[in-house]
Amino acid sequence: MNNETTAPSLSFIQQIVEEDAKTGKWEGRIHTRFPPEPNGYLHIGHAKSICLNFGIAEKYGGLCNLRFDDTNPTKEEKAYVNSIIADVRWLGFDWEDRLLFASDYFDKMYEWAVDLIKKGKAYVCDLDAEQTREHRGTLTKPGKDSPFRDRTVDENLDLFERMRDGEFTDGSRTLRAKIDMASSNMNLRDPVMYRILHATHHRTGDKWCIYPMYDWAHGLEDSIEKITHSICTLEFEDHRPLYDWFLDELGIYHPQQIEFARLELSYTIMSKRKLLELVEEGHVTGWDDPRMSTISGMRRRGITSKAIRDFCDRIGVAKFKSVIDMAMFDHCVRDDLNKTSVRVMGVLKPLKVVIENYPEGQAEELDAVNNPEDPNAGTRKVPFSRVLYVEQDDFMEDPPRKFFRLSPGREVRLRYAYFITCTDVIKNDAGEVVELRCTYDPATRGGDSPDGRKVKATLHWVSAEHAARATVRLYDHLFAKEDPDDTPEGEDYRANLNPKSLETLENCFIEPSVIGAKPGSRYQFERLGYFCVDSESTAETPVFNRTVTLKDTWAKLAKQQSKKKK
Ligand code: ATP
Ligand code: MG
Repeated sequence: MNNETTAPSLSFIQQIVEEDAKTGKWEGRIHTRFPPEPNGYLHIGHAKSICLNFGIAEKYGGLCNLRFDDTNPTKEEKAYVNSIIADVRWLGFDWEDRLLFASDYFDKMYEWAVDLIKKGKAYVCDLDAEQTREHRGTLTKPGKDSPFRDRTVDENLDLFERMRDGEFTDGSRTLRAKIDMASSNMNLRDPVMYRILHATHHRTGDKWCIYPMYDWAHGLEDSIEKITHSICTLEFEDHRPLYDWFLDELGIYHPQQIEFARLELSYTIMSKRKLLELVEEGHVTGWDDPRMSTISGMRRRGITSKAIRDFCDRIGVAKFKSVIDMAMFDHCVRDDLNKTSVRVMGVLKPLKVVIENYPEGQAEELDAVNNPEDPNAGTRKVPFSRVLYVEQDDFMEDPPRKFFRLSPGREVRLRYAYFITCTDVIKNDAGEVVELRCTYDPATRGGDSPDGRKVKATLHWVSAEHAARATVRLYDHLFAKEDPDDTPEGEDYRANLNPKSLETLENCFIEPSVIGAKPGSRYQFERLGYFCVDSESTAETPVFNRTVTLKDTWAKLAKQQSKKKK
């Protein structure tokens, strides 16, 4: 079978959509939505849902709405709305004129609640939160009816109106659906539809002091927007009978809900509540800290939207839970950056090298390839002179057998430049190596030896006089454990924060071609990884974030596995 000619297999959701298109279930319409609650920044899990919903609309010529599920005024902010809009756009998706807000439907939702009261299907309950919980029962024990369950329709209508008009205090009453307190599905045990909350909403201001609960509101929002495929994560499978109940009792348009497994990534948390805690408690510098699993953090770190979309494509969608290996995500990031990043040289931990036989005051320009993966990327000039910096790690005074880089008497290649040989080592009073004395072979210009002489290592370097000082931030996983929630009793995910997740190096040197690069510019620093100019970088103090190293543990693993199979 030729893999290139067979169509990629369809996800179970695509199969449903295609089947519906065939049978004409929605008269040929396909309409999805991405419905974030604006109570935090989007994270990589949301990206999966965005790619899925917008992706289906794109693939099948349908529409996808961006809808804010803004039903909880106390946790929601305009700033979050703006960040979400920016992130979805950055990911490359377009909702055209369909930027929607659940709060615009509050009037309609209120009317529908009144309809249910009139049908005897909803009632005002005076139990407080604690009592309501007690009455609810457990998975093994049926609930108890509220003493207010049998209020008359008129009494309910009157009380509900007065709830709306602000007569009662927060939490003193609720509106509940009248379903079945003995249902084996806890969600059907007379769920709360409205609560009293005297809070200002970011869009409706003080118009309302009752707010709809998520379970009441969500299905109505999809119904109003005539969504065909209401795609959500698995936790909502048990809520579906409730959404069905509301829509059927009201006799209104009824989308099809489809559940899929949420994305989980090793070494990462995705709960917005916890991400907010990390920000508020100062464990990170903000929502866009490059260690965060947020879209804005990833963007700042240098990850492209293409890499994220590609990752979402590769992991696909399924019905069962699984944790994706972070190494797989990093692999997608590298794959993309490898094709697009210009190669440059930068030295993170500099060690001074003086080329003794290179004339003082002389400099020359050598040709360097910009990107071997991209023939159109061309070449650039890199200055070479008598005093250079190389990486401290590339020198060992007393090297073990397998160390082939610089050491006393050893010859190595400087990338695009010359072969050099270490002739002397200079130390400070503490006995640390602070400078190397070397000689170069002028006949090896460009990095080739005319006599076929071989060296076993090629080092990156910069010319001291021409290079610019820069700050470089190296990142490791924000959490030290694959599952950050795996903690001893009495501790939480904070206990697993990785104390070494950020290393800041302030004495790095970068080659001149990178000087003045704008925030967001991406490079491969040869041998060190992919780097991106930080959003707060300035001409005076350039700052680079390491997006990812070059070591692809995922590709290596995949290779080993395919070998085993053979
Ligand atoms: P969180 O628990 O982080 O607050 P949420 O589900 O409450 O997440 P919403 O703003 O309600 O956040 O999510 C918007 C959409 O994104 C929902 O449709 C939700 O199913 C989806 N989503 C959230 N997290 C993930 C995830 N990890 N994987 C896939 N989809 C997700
Ligand atoms: Mg939510």
